[in-house]
Amino acid sequence: MQHLVDTDNFSDAQIAQLLHDAKNFKSQHPPKLLRDKLLVTLFFEASTRTRSSFEVAAKRLGASVVHLDPSRSSTKKGETLEDTFANLCAMEPDGIIVRHSDNKTPKILANMQMTPVINAGAGNYAHPTQALLDLFTMVEYFNGDIKGKTIAIVGDIVSSRVASSGIRLMRRMGMNVLLVAPEQFMPTSDLPQYKNLEDVMDRVDVIMSLRAQLERHETELFEDYDDYARQYCITKERMKDRDILLLHPGPVMRNIDISDEMLDDPRCKVLTQVKNGVFMRMAILKLLLLDA
Ligand code: ASP
Repeated sequence: MQHLVDTDNFSDAQIAQLLHDAKNFKSQHPPKLLRDKLLVTLFFEASTRTRSSFEVAAKRLGASVVHLDPSRSSTKKGETLEDTFANLCAMEPDGIIVRHSDNKTPKILANMQMTPVINAGAGNYAHPTQALLDLFTMVEYFNGDIKGKTIAIVGDIVSSRVASSGIRLMRRMGMNVLLVAPEQFMPTSDLPQYKNLEDVMDRVDVIMSLRAQLERHETELFEDYDDYARQYCITKERMKDRDILLLHPGPVMRNIDISDEMLDDPRCKVLTQVKNGVFMRMAILKLLLLDA
């Protein structure tokens, strides 16, 4: 039984397979490969893109999806997460997709070895399907040639599971990763760190902008996000006519993370990421439910 807790659960060959399958699913009408499969989603945190993307991906491949709303489930009556999970597994789903604020939840559930567990976001630790769809988007944009490309991750890096998973995967793929953030948002890391966006603008092929994760801050880290935006918002004045691919996992805080104008700029691929997310998740479901 194979799980997806983070991308290191996949071998290099499996990652290559995922990129290949996602590309195929994007270019041709996908067959209903998962017609007899049933997935359960268990989201303890809010989600717009990831939950619907998994559902669309599953349905495009013919699978059925059941959503459990934890705010109305027995975890509210005192049942442990492990018991809730075991009860769901007793109904014999083919996989459970889980999002939780605790970094360890997907690993704990995967270790129970009852059904394949797919991590749809855990605390600030990992968001592997986002990392893989970002990889797919970059591979597509650079025609397969991402080794040696330089990406700057800009924003609330310390709180971001997208950054954690992304950094691990991008380094593994041979990319150079630079971190750009004010002190409050900078993690402890051996990667090159910058306070000023201007210092990296001439060296990067990709910018990944990140939202300030207010829900994960114990204290207010910034009094005024306009101040933050003046230094870190990705604007046309900052980008000039440089050929830089601009990514963001969403939700975008307009004019704090990325300006209105840049969101409409062809270099900004936020909606391509969302589109590619469905194809990458189809590939992931195929791998975990059929091939593995
Ligand atoms: N949607 C991403 C996540 O779930 C990024 C974010 O929320 O800022 O981590």
